[in-house]
Amino acid sequence: MRVAGLIRSIAAIWVLVAVCFPAGARSAVIIDSILVRVYDNVGIVTADLNDALKHSREILRRAEVSVDWVQCPARRTGSVPAICDTSPGNSEMVVRLIEGAEKDRDKRPLGQPLLDRSRGTGVFATVFMNRVDRFAEVAQYSRSVVLGRAIAHEIGHLILGTDEHSATGLMREVWTVEQLVRNRSEDWQFSPAQTFELRSAWLAGGSLASKSQATPPKRPRT
Ligand SMILES: [Zn+2]
Repeated sequence: MRVAGLIRSIAAIWVLVAVCFPAGARSAVIIDSILVRVYDNVGIVTADLNDALKHSREILRRAEVSVDWVQCPARRTGSVPAICDTSPGNSEMVVRLIEGAEKDRDKRPLGQPLLDRSRGTGVFATVFMNRVDRFAEVAQYSRSVVLGRAIAHEIGHLILGTDEHSATGLMREVWTVEQLVRNRSEDWQFSPAQTFELRSAWLAGGSLASKSQATPPKRPRT
């Protein structure tokens, strides 16, 4: 019994250490890159969109999530990557930027993930540009930075496979003008706990992993 008790104690300590150690305390493991297609239905100025995606990538990188962007402009005035016209494959996500209804420009949230709640999966999210623009305008803040943060927030939802929010950090439900102006870094990053959740969701077969590993149900031959 003493041996069993000792084993239980060691196990309890191990679990405690595993739960309490923030992501930064473990060896950094960069998970596989996610290819994110950005379908711009608004026609955002190229420099603004590039800047936004740079901000978004940096936020995600700090959470040990590596993303590559493919920009798919709705206004086909030039060449468009061929991938934009194909169905999303494994390890791919889609972020759609749309104008949104004028009457909703003061509304929140800034974006919306499309999730399969029963499976905890999602690969598609929308960001409402009129809400992003209005938020940035009222706060007199950079539109690109707000957009980059909104995109990172939505990708967070997709990786976690949930539309739930946290009280602090980037995954807060409500972003206020005051918070934007105050610009505390911890308000606009994934917290250590969220970083841990993101990695856990991924490694445990999160949205993309489960999608790529899923095998279609066998159907009886008819
Ligand atoms: Zn959200």
